[in-house]
Amino acid sequence: MFVRSENMKPFESKIWLASPTMHGEEMRYVIEAYETNWMSTVGVNINEVERTAAEKAEVKYAVGLSCCTAALHLCVKLAGEKLYGKSANGHGAVESKRVFCSDMTFSATLNPVVYEGGIPVFIDTERDTWNMDPVALEKAFEIYPEVKLVVAAHLYGFPGKIDELRAVCDKHSALLIEDAAESMGATYKGKQTGSFGDYAAISYNGNKIITGSSGGCLLTNDLEAANKARKWSTQARENAAWYQHEEVGYNYRMSNVIAGVVRGQYPYLEEHIKQKKAIWERYKEGFKDLPVSMNPFEEDKSVPNYWLSAMILDKDAMCEQVRDDSTAIYRPEHGKSCPTEILDAIADINAEGRPIWKPMHMQPMYRMNAFITAAGNGRAKTNAYIAGSIEDIGSDIFKRGLCLPSDNKMTVKQQDRIIEVIKRCFE
Ligand SMILES: *Cc1c(COP(=O)(O)O)cnc(C)c1O
Repeated sequence: MFVRSENMKPFESKIWLASPTMHGEEMRYVIEAYETNWMSTVGVNINEVERTAAEKAEVKYAVGLSCCTAALHLCVKLAGEKLYGKSANGHGAVESKRVFCSDMTFSATLNPVVYEGGIPVFIDTERDTWNMDPVALEKAFEIYPEVKLVVAAHLYGFPGKIDELRAVCDKHSALLIEDAAESMGATYKGKQTGSFGDYAAISYNGNKIITGSSGGCLLTNDLEAANKARKWSTQARENAAWYQHEEVGYNYRMSNVIAGVVRGQYPYLEEHIKQKKAIWERYKEGFKDLPVSMNPFEEDKSVPNYWLSAMILDKDAMCEQVRDDSTAIYRPEHGKSCPTEILDAIADINAEGRPIWKPMHMQPMYRMNAFITAAGNGRAKTNAYIAGSIEDIGSDIFKRGLCLPSDNKMTVKQQDRIIEVIKRCFE
């Protein structure tokens, strides 16, 4: 006979970083699609998602797509075409062009730049919000004045300095693509993230604040751009009875079944944000005596959606930690800790954390790409990169920071246990 002790095995199941939270209404719309046979990329669920997405994001138009990466791809194509015109096959609108991109973000932010043959130039992060540094962006325009496109993300649902970034873009007549995949519902100076860019994208991926299991929307105030994106996403068919084509198309449209799930989730966006905020605040309170701080935001300017709680250890609270391309080791030290030790400790109680998204300039595939810091001393116009030789903020946050279990179904008791386990790492 087995006896399970509460103390030894505190959780029924794994505490996730961020997992889907369904409410029941989603099924109603999915069943409706099924019963009316709109099992397609056309239907009332898609129309409703587009209407709601535009309304919530405070933009005029939303285009429902298979995922946010597809939305970002069409954003890049729209921007490229506007800036540089169209090449023969409709592709390559940013081909061989440099594009300034967030450095500390998920790779999907900039993958579409590379799909289109553009060359990402990475812009370092600032410490106030952990997003693209407007000072570094200005520096980048000094070094590469010919650049006309910027792609900026809001990390973990905490808005970046988006009006300052917008102002730098305007000064240099550059277009701005805003990746609001993680920040749906978050505001900056009272305006929704996703409403600042010329083109923007939001995500309904399974780990995001609301989800359709997958899906995304392209956001814009430009009707012509919205219509173009919708056309490209449905194989670029021209207006004729037969299949008539003048340019290359994509199969990027949102499914009406997925849209049913998203439609059912939208009424719960505010509730999820409230839960995520409570989680972030409980961590902050729980860690108040530790040499750590939570992921920051500009309290006078922005309201995050708190999608992921993250923390960073003080420099002098770090024990020695070494990472290569796939593994990490550390040397335990009294009174100190490190992300590797903390992630191991919470994994032992079946809770999922994650290192900070590894900055793009540190990724093997982008080792030859330029990287610009606020001091302008990144890898500009040189391929010489010696690891650790550049004083940048992104790699420092990556070294000392980590994402905490942030699932909105986590109970207070479960979170208290996680906090306890993390405190013990510093003993
Ligand atoms: C999740 C995510 C994406 C991609 O979203 P999908 O809908 O999965 O394609 C893009 N950018 C960021 C910052 C993300 O977190």
